[in-house]
Order: sequence, then C-alpha cells, then structure tokens
Amino acid sequence: MYEFTYQKASSLEAAAKAHADAEDAKYMSGGMTLLPTLKLRLDRPSDVIDLAGVPDMEGISVSGGVVSIKARTCHAAVAASEDVKQAIPALAKLASGIGDPMVRNRGTIGGSIANSDPAADYPAAIVGLGATIHTNKRTIAAGDYFQDLFETALEAGELITQIDFPVPDKAGYMKFPNPASRYCIVGVMVSQKGSEVRVGVTGAGACAFRVADMESALAGNFASESVENIHIPDADLNSDIHASAEYRAHLVTIMAKRAVAEANGE
Ligand SMILES: Cc1cc2nc3c(=O)[nH]c(=O)nc-3n(C[C@H](O)[C@H](O)[C@H](O)COP(=O)(O)OP(=O)(O)OC[C@H]3O[C@@H](n4cnc5c(N)ncnc54)[C@H](O)[C@@H]3O)c2cc1C
Repeated sequence: MYEFTYQKASSLEAAAKAHADAEDAKYMSGGMTLLPTLKLRLDRPSDVIDLAGVPDMEGISVSGGVVSIKARTCHAAVAASEDVKQAIPALAKLASGIGDPMVRNRGTIGGSIANSDPAADYPAAIVGLGATIHTNKRTIAAGDYFQDLFETALEAGELITQIDFPVPDKAGYMKFPNPASRYCIVGVMVSQKGSEVRVGVTGAGACAFRVADMESALAGNFASESVENIHIPDADLNSDIHASAEYRAHLVTIMAKRAVAEANGE
C-alpha cells in the first residue's frame, strides 16, 4: 500500500510550509520520476506535495539575452517554444529528445534538475550553457549546483522556481541515447559566448561536468577537429549494463565533436 498524505499546495509559501511541517515530504512536479520511485518502493515519503496548483510556475520568456524557463514548464513546451528555438535551438532540440511524448508532456525542467539523474539531458544544458537556478531562497550558479549522484546544492525543502539560460552566440547538443528509455548514455552541450566556451557532459559521470581541455582547445579554434583527439580519463566514469566507463569516455569525444559541428551549422 502507498502510505502518504497527498497535499495540493496553492502557493510557493504553502508548499514550503507543508514540506517543513511534514516528517519526510517530497514535492511532486510532473511525477515522471517520483511516481515510478514510489511504485518501486524506492522511497516512502510521509507526504507528497503537489506543485500543480501553485500559480506562476509555468512559462518561458526571453529578455535581455536570457531565456527564462519556470520550473513546472514541461519538456514538450520547451521543445515547441518558438522563443527557445530562436534563441537557443540546441536547448529546444535537447527537450525534444527527452523520453517519449508522455514523459515530455508531464515531466518538467524543475523536476528533472531537482532529481539530477546522472543520465538526464538538462544537466548538460545547465553546465554547458552556464545557467542560473532560482529557488524560493536564492540563486545558484551552474557550477555550484550538481554535486554528486542524485545530489544537488538544494537544501531540504528548497524549491526551484526558474532556470535562466544566457543566450549563447552558438550552441550544439548531441546525445547517444539509451534506445529503450532515451536517457543519455552520454550527452554533450557545447556553447560559445564571446570568448567563453563551455562543454557540459551528462550521462558519463555521477553528475554533469565540464571538460576544461576541450573548452580551452575550442576557445582557440571553435571547430570539431579541435576536440577529436581529446580523450577524457575513464577512471571515475559510470559503468553499467548499458556501457562501460571506457566506452562512455570515447562517446564524450564523439558527442562533443558532433555538437561543435552542429553549433557551426555543419
Ligand atoms: C520512461 C521515462 C523515460 C525518460 N527519459 C528521459 C530522457 O530521455 N531524458 C531525461 O532527461 N529524462 C528522462 N526521463 C525523466 C523525465 O525527464 C522527468 O522530467 C524527470 O525525471 C522529473 O521531472 P518531473 O517533473 O516528472 O519531476 P517529479 O517526478 O515530480 O519530481 C522529481 C524529483 O524532483 C523534486 N522536485 C520536483 N519539482 C521540484 C521543484 N520545483 N523544486 C524542488 N524539487 C522538485 C521531487 O520532489 C522529486 O524528488 C524519463 C522518465 C521516464 C519515466
């Protein structure tokens, strides 16, 4: 039996208070990770606090060179947004490749990065585009956010409200998907904004990370040849039934090369 109290919050404040008052609460956004977790009995929260009734948690806007996406915006909305397609096509592409139509229509960007699955797509965009995460308490820079396997800088009860992506001069995203779930075996987001280059990797390690050697090579010459001979060490990479650490390391180079080519319109 599922044994939890379902609460539907009507405001951010009410959600945070319900969380603080409960013994062991979980927020629910799209439920695409939380519900399977409960069904598999991997978690037994005392309370599930549904964010679906909280106003002003969905929507996309572009202003001052920044794409702002509210936390409960679903992946399908990001994929279909003309504003996102125009400002950061690689981000719209990333969202369009998540899971299947049901996952894209229920799953949300806030839920995805709060969960921080090592194989999720959005973490590559957070670090590869240098996003800022807004919560009900503070703002968190991309470099401070992902900490370890399913671990982020979020404190207990802290609520993601919005993610801001600076619009790059160019960006590309490539992933090698698990053919069953579409989760990333490896996904790489590369971007260039002025003299700054970012290479954000997901799927390969415990959490998303940047590749400094690739970034400095691309800062010298933003061309796919610049990364084709850069290989990352596989010692700390994920190894599972889907791919060995050695194979994931290989894929980082291949996906980075393809992402740069895409960013260059090749
Ligand atoms: C079959 C399947 C295939 C999938 N394939 C992919 C894929 O290819 N790529 C990919 O990236 N993802 C994939 N996913 C995951 C999907 O993208 C979900 O969006 C994501 O896992 C969670 O989003 P959600 O909105 O459903 O969050 P929920 O399941 O509601 O919540 C997830 C976690 O985040 C917390 N949370 C939710 N919202 C907030 C918030 N605003 N602030 C703080 N904490 C919050 C919850 O408490 C919970 O711990 C797949 C999922 C399924 C079921």
